[in-house]
Amino acid sequence: MARSRSGTRGRRGPRKPPRRAGFAPGAVQVVDPSERGAIELPGTITVKELAELLTVSPADIIRELIKSGIFATINQLIDRDTASLVAEELGYEVAEVTATAGDEDEDGEGGVPAEATKEVLFEEDDEADLVPRAPIVTVMGHVDHGKTSLLDAIRTTQVAAGERGGITQHIGASEVTTKDGKRLVFLDTPGHEAFTSMRARGARVTDIAVVVVAADDGVMPQTLEAISHAKAAKVPIVIAMNKIDRPEANPDRVRTELAEAGVVVEDYGGDVPMVPVSAKTRVGIDELLEIILLVADLQELKANPKRAAVGTIIEAQLDKGRGPVATTIVQTGTLKVGDVVVVGNTFGKVKALESAVGKRIKEAGPASAVVVLGLSDVPEAGDVLRVVSDEKIARAQVEARKNEQAAREGAGAGRATLEDLYSQMQAGQAKELRIILKTDVSGSLGAITRALGQLSSDETKINVLLEAAGDITDNDIMLATASNAIVIGFNTGITDTARRGAEAEGVDVRLYDIIYKLTDDIDAALKGMLEPEMVEVIEGRAEVRQIFKVGKTTVIAGCYVTDGRIVRTGSARVWRGGKVVATDKIDSLRRFRDDVREVAANFECGIGLSGYNDLEEGDIIECYTQQARSRIAG
Ligand code: GDP
Repeated sequence: MARSRSGTRGRRGPRKPPRRAGFAPGAVQVVDPSERGAIELPGTITVKELAELLTVSPADIIRELIKSGIFATINQLIDRDTASLVAEELGYEVAEVTATAGDEDEDGEGGVPAEATKEVLFEEDDEADLVPRAPIVTVMGHVDHGKTSLLDAIRTTQVAAGERGGITQHIGASEVTTKDGKRLVFLDTPGHEAFTSMRARGARVTDIAVVVVAADDGVMPQTLEAISHAKAAKVPIVIAMNKIDRPEANPDRVRTELAEAGVVVEDYGGDVPMVPVSAKTRVGIDELLEIILLVADLQELKANPKRAAVGTIIEAQLDKGRGPVATTIVQTGTLKVGDVVVVGNTFGKVKALESAVGKRIKEAGPASAVVVLGLSDVPEAGDVLRVVSDEKIARAQVEARKNEQAAREGAGAGRATLEDLYSQMQAGQAKELRIILKTDVSGSLGAITRALGQLSSDETKINVLLEAAGDITDNDIMLATASNAIVIGFNTGITDTARRGAEAEGVDVRLYDIIYKLTDDIDAALKGMLEPEMVEVIEGRAEVRQIFKVGKTTVIAGCYVTDGRIVRTGSARVWRGGKVVATDKIDSLRRFRDDVREVAANFECGIGLSGYNDLEEGDIIECYTQQARSRIAG
């Protein structure tokens, strides 16, 4: 049974003395409503901490606040009264407590960022109830570097070695037991996309990131992304240098390239462990698991198996015979058959639980992967599962959440924006501006990062979470959402889905083609002098199909609008072969012979630009406008 396996091995690391912190920000008292009947709230609490406390996503809290006219950011402190309102809206009872002035949080951080709240979940548990738990591990890395093979190698070696036997069914996660009986949980969807999309939804599941680098290929773009995503999440990294069986393997090159990417491995005097492995010959797999367990030990991962369970859905689907099936990582507490659970927008009673090897089990303890049956609907990956005391509470919470979703339309989720940076700084909340930087060529990266670095001050640090060449993609938006960052594109575009994602999530995306404009904006934002009103909105794109000369100089491009719309009052960026060749105003826009104000997607039109007359067939005209952004006050 998962619980006894995970819970009572009795490994006792050095323990901090029991600490019942007062209500300093970041040291939040967590009371399970099903155990205590009501939650206790501190005098002030950040949006993120409140989300943790109520085990909902921060976006849920922000939406709830928007309903009361409060536009809060994720790290913003809100007072107890406001927090109570939100908690009650979400179906919680709030205990009448008078908060005592807190002992200083020993970590000393006010308005603590996301990462610290991981612990918050367990803060209330009595030290005596906490037991070490297995680490939950995600494998990331460049395509073809062997993520899937490595997971397979880990699973087959260890399942065969483990005493449970049986064949792992595919449930989205695997539990592995080493020869000396230690457990690890691996998430089966490799890659930072899955990792960050969960994180963007407020789920924090992973304790350790294994970054796979093929020894014969070295550090590649997705390796860098994986590293950035893990670092942004403050998840410790273990490097698995794979394919060492290959004759072309060049470990030194890997070490050097990693060092250049800011990851200094232990052999080079750094603190990132690196294990040479071969998923093919299975060399090094045991060592890799050992190192992961060592890193886990340092983290002192603990959970309370006695409390009501909290977990995260990592995969779910509708099974014809069995109804909704959802693989859940139980993060704390013990999930039992018969428990009433709220999961995202749905709830249900746990009808049955299945282990990773397809065995029916009665309960699942902390850090176990189980398939949950009995939900009334299929949840989404990243949804939090929480045991509540009865169906009435479950129903109320689900109702509240559905209402918020309806209210969400149109209301930006209140993410970090350059405009509200200053007010956040003033309020002592923002200490750093997190930036995701995409450029056309990697050559510009250094110059821009340096220029940005010079803007860092004692008050506000500029932290470039990810810098890479290429268009702004969904991944970047996800990382921004998860990390409360803004996205800057320099001489680069943004994919359609990324643009839609950014709009939906309220991510601040800024496109520049001149470095000083970029740095001026950031500088102005840091000084609270940014002109907040106007932002660029990309309206749509049209492809040039034919060129017509009118008179001597004027050129009209016969175009087909491929997406969005072209507006007569807009500006135009002309793309050719992935590069911007001109920026201009739209001078004329026609459908047949008529001047029109706009032309929608899938229609043809004639476009004339005011100054640029060298349009060619195949060019893409990207139409954008400047629009006032509704200021999200800090
Ligand atoms: P992923 O895209 O990162 O999941 O990579 P895969 O696991 O699909 O592996 C990509 C290719 O590399 C496959 O052809 C594997 O057989 C091969 N491969 C993976 N690991 C090793 C290894 O340790 N040694 C050798 N020689 N080939 C490997």
